[in-house]
Amino acid sequence: MSNVEILPQVSAFIERRHGCFIDGQWVFAEGESIAVVNPATGQTLCETMDAPLEIVEQAVQSSHKAFKSGVWSKLRPADRERILLNFTRLVEEHAEELAQLETLSQGKSINMARALDLNATVEFMRYMSGWATKIEGQTFDVSIPLPPGAKFTAFTKREPVGVVVGIVPWNFPLLIAAWKLMPALATGCTVIIKPAMETPLTAMRLAELALEAGIPAGVFNVVTGGGASVGGVLTSHPLVSKVSFTGSTAVGKSVGVACMTNMTRFSLELGGKNPMIVLADADIEKAVQGAILGGLLNNGQVCAAASRFYVHRSIHDKFVEALAAAVSSMPIGDGMNCEAAINPLVSRKQQQSVLKHIELARQEGARVVTGGELLQGDGFFVQPTILADIDHSMAVAREEVFGPVLGVMPFDDEDAVIELANDNRYGLAASLWTNDLSKAMNLVPRIEAGTVWVNAHVLLDPAMPFGGVKQSGMGREFGRAVIEAYTELKSVCIAH
Ligand code: NAD
Repeated sequence: MSNVEILPQVSAFIERRHGCFIDGQWVFAEGESIAVVNPATGQTLCETMDAPLEIVEQAVQSSHKAFKSGVWSKLRPADRERILLNFTRLVEEHAEELAQLETLSQGKSINMARALDLNATVEFMRYMSGWATKIEGQTFDVSIPLPPGAKFTAFTKREPVGVVVGIVPWNFPLLIAAWKLMPALATGCTVIIKPAMETPLTAMRLAELALEAGIPAGVFNVVTGGGASVGGVLTSHPLVSKVSFTGSTAVGKSVGVACMTNMTRFSLELGGKNPMIVLADADIEKAVQGAILGGLLNNGQVCAAASRFYVHRSIHDKFVEALAAAVSSMPIGDGMNCEAAINPLVSRKQQQSVLKHIELARQEGARVVTGGELLQGDGFFVQPTILADIDHSMAVAREEVFGPVLGVMPFDDEDAVIELANDNRYGLAASLWTNDLSKAMNLVPRIEAGTVWVNAHVLLDPAMPFGGVKQSGMGREFGRAVIEAYTELKSVCIAH
């Protein structure tokens, strides 16, 4: 049951006819549409456009034209920064509206949408705005010997890569759109965002706010529609210079292949099967709290979520008991109910997929300590589930579930547990729980992951690079690393 009053502007936005945002205006076409469904009720909220080929082409041409015109890329950096800060302020002013749109279409808790999605989006936007005035190259003392006596001054310049396509998944639709959009805008690129079919609404609203903030028409376009159709055309388009993709490993690989046909630059943020390793000396209470945040944030639909828990045998039973007690008392309900801590998954498809994983784990011998069932009703709920008696070879310990399912395993030996943690095709994130600093410093370098937390899990910061090793992706988002990924380095050598 919802206990949040829906803002009139949210209802009005949902009820509009939806098109694609190209060149500063909504563009419509006859043809297929895609239902946006409220995961709490299973009811359709609205229909959005499954963009036909000509609309996708129109978006790319618009972005290309805007880039070539220099209307954004040639702006004084200080002016780009000022406009981006203005954009950030507008998003902050519309935070409640965006949070409600996010919860209604994604299913997540409104508390989380406000406190995490919107706050983190605004902080990320503010941080990235500042980069517009801080892009720099280097100078070099070169030793070129010819002609004899010649002098040279050599330096590098970072230049915007061109038209960027950002492909966004459904778990953090607004935040991840901002992760792609903002470095593109800060560096002077133009950008097309393709949101996930399930959750396009906040990216669409963001495009209107960008225009209102003074970002010129064509610099930020939004194209909605199917992954393989719209996404496929965008990633293989010769006028696209860079693709930033977040999603599943399977699709990410095909995006990389499509990009290579035109040597389009690409970065991939993909899946994870992230271990949380709790050593014998860890503070159990803090580790349990960390497991709840790290494993159940956004109902487990987080790429960096902890999903396999290796707990030292001496504290394993106590850990499982405390975790199960905490999890089984979490209230379940509509994301628009402020009291509900566990909310529906994004779609019927995701609900069925998570239930299948739980069923397979049962068949393989896992013990369901708590949860494990779907909840009756039309929403896409799954009880938060703690599994014990699992071993490292079971599918639930190896495959990404992307739902509220935490599997706990005991271990005896620290060397062996690091091997188990690394014995997976993914390498996005991991956490180590210990109060022994020297153990932490020795073990962290041995963990194969893009991010390792100690006594924390799933905490990100705009300044701290984020991305995966192995099949969790290529490239890094955030910080200086993302600025480098959205620019080309030009070497200049002047003889004088
Ligand atoms: P998905 O790969 O199915 O879709 C992601 C996006 O790609 C969507 O916008 C989709 O429409 C689009 N897409 C689908 N097929 C495409 C194609 N052939 N060409 C271009 N685009 C295409 O993933 P999902 O189901 O939306 O998201 C869940 C997955 O994303 C999980 O595996 C999760 O781990 C991963 N994820 C990773 C991160 C990260 O930062 N590493 C963050 C969030 C989600």
